[in-house]
Amino acid sequence: MSIVIDHVSKSFGTFQALSDINLDIQTGELVALLGPSGSGKTSLLRIIAGLEAPDHGSIRFDHKDITSITAKERGVGFVFQHYALFRHMTVFENVAYGLKVKPRKERPSRKIIKEKVHELLDLVKLGSLADRYPSQLSGGQRQRVALARALAVEPKVLLLDEPFGALDAKVRKELRRWLRRLHDEFQISSIFVTHDQEEALDVADKIVVMNQGRIEQIGTPIEVYENPQTPFVYDFLGSVNIFKGRLHEGTLVHGDLVLNTPDLTNSGGSEASAYVRPHDLTISKEIQGDETVRATVNHLHIVGAVVRVELIRADTDEYVEAEITKERYRDLSLKVGESVYIKPRHLKVFPPEDYVI
Ligand code: ATP
Repeated sequence: MSIVIDHVSKSFGTFQALSDINLDIQTGELVALLGPSGSGKTSLLRIIAGLEAPDHGSIRFDHKDITSITAKERGVGFVFQHYALFRHMTVFENVAYGLKVKPRKERPSRKIIKEKVHELLDLVKLGSLADRYPSQLSGGQRQRVALARALAVEPKVLLLDEPFGALDAKVRKELRRWLRRLHDEFQISSIFVTHDQEEALDVADKIVVMNQGRIEQIGTPIEVYENPQTPFVYDFLGSVNIFKGRLHEGTLVHGDLVLNTPDLTNSGGSEASAYVRPHDLTISKEIQGDETVRATVNHLHIVGAVVRVELIRADTDEYVEAEITKERYRDLSLKVGESVYIKPRHLKVFPPEDYVI
């Protein structure tokens, strides 16, 4: 089922929660709505579900306008952060519920329901826990029941609001891999809300970055991470060094650092900021031509296969964060207190917001 969100806006009183949202989702895509608290992710999800009506704009499922159709008629499955399972029902009964309450004409026989629920429970690796009650399950198991329950009614669209938000890091990671596999198997168009950039990068086919009720950028995880279109996306999707400076004859000057900015040639004297990801900074013992600046190693932190290096720039006293491979770290035999040279390999320059190129 394809989903089109067309010029959707929503206000609560005088507060504009969503402003002119446009989004196309292809059949079978797994999409993450990613943004900080209050950016409008849940509001958008609720509008897609039919739990909230937009003030303007429309929603289409497979080219059909469903804006005024009720939530029930939309055929969407839901999973919420707090796995709202029925406490007085067993795992089996929870998963079977949606099938049992179907109108008589559409309701499968008891035998079919039984088969189907067991099939789903096997799929979510809970086959042996069918007779337990929610209170006898761990958080991760409950969340898997919630997913099985949502899938039981064969929704055309699956909506998940911070589905793993309440779980610890290890279980979260397991469940999101598992969501990915499940999604690939069922090929249901799915949208999940998260404020966790790692979760979105790890699982989604497409990420929609939201900020203050607007979409900042839409793209694949690689696109939004490697090529952020706005300072907000740069900042929200990972660590970043920001070098604020002045544009001068095709360069950005910040302290002793002179960075080439071929895209911003006619911008003498204006302020601008270069955004550089930690892994895009090269560290060396020798000067590396232009665009190099001296810095002192302040702290070394080994994280798995990479080493995070905190440095202090010699010219401005500012902290800079670099990330290098363990091999590179060994080759350089870096030590705290040592003086080195740093050079950005890749950067993006953003002019101030009111600046017109
Ligand atoms: P979070 O990650 O904290 O859940 P979110 O990105 O999902 O945030 P929303 O829940 O969509 O954000 O809320 C967006 C804004 O709209 C918030 O400022 C919120 O206070 C406001 N809002 C949401 N629902 C209502 C409502 N029913 N009445 C008034 N304001 C609301």
